Amino acid sequence: MDSDRRCHAVKADGSRCGVVAGVSAATGLCRMHDPAVAAEVAAARARGRSNRQPRPAGAVVRTVPAADIPFGGEPKTLDEAAALSGWIIQAILTGKVDARTGREAVLAVNGLKGVLATRDLATHKLAQLKADLLEELRGNTA
Ligand SMILES: [Zn+2]
Repeated sequence: MDSDRRCHAVKADGSRCGVVAGVSAATGLCRMHDPAVAAEVAAARARGRSNRQPRPAGAVVRTVPAADIPFGGEPKTLDEAAALSGWIIQAILTGKVDARTGREAVLAVNGLKGVLATRDLATHKLAQLKADLLEELRGNTA
């Protein structure tokens, strides 16, 4: 690897950043460490915040109590999260919750689905590794 194409920034722990992707030829810094890029990113973030639409005055807010939501609104498995998604769709379409509340709920459930899927995959891989290791150990002692 050409060391000149790696980021030259020194991290807080004293080690070199060393990131390869996105390193500017002019500065020798990655996007994370280039002050000009950092300023652009900060400005874009500020614009994003100012573009966020506040709930219009007088907008109807309709929510439902946690006891009325499947799994109390806290699904623990991917199947439960999928079932909750279906319930949210129905709640939006039938007006049990307002559109904005529904949209936020969909975003949250989708985020949770990603986390649960990653957790399940990691658990599955770990179980497979354990099984493989056991098989190998048994093979070595037989
Ligand atoms: Zn860097």
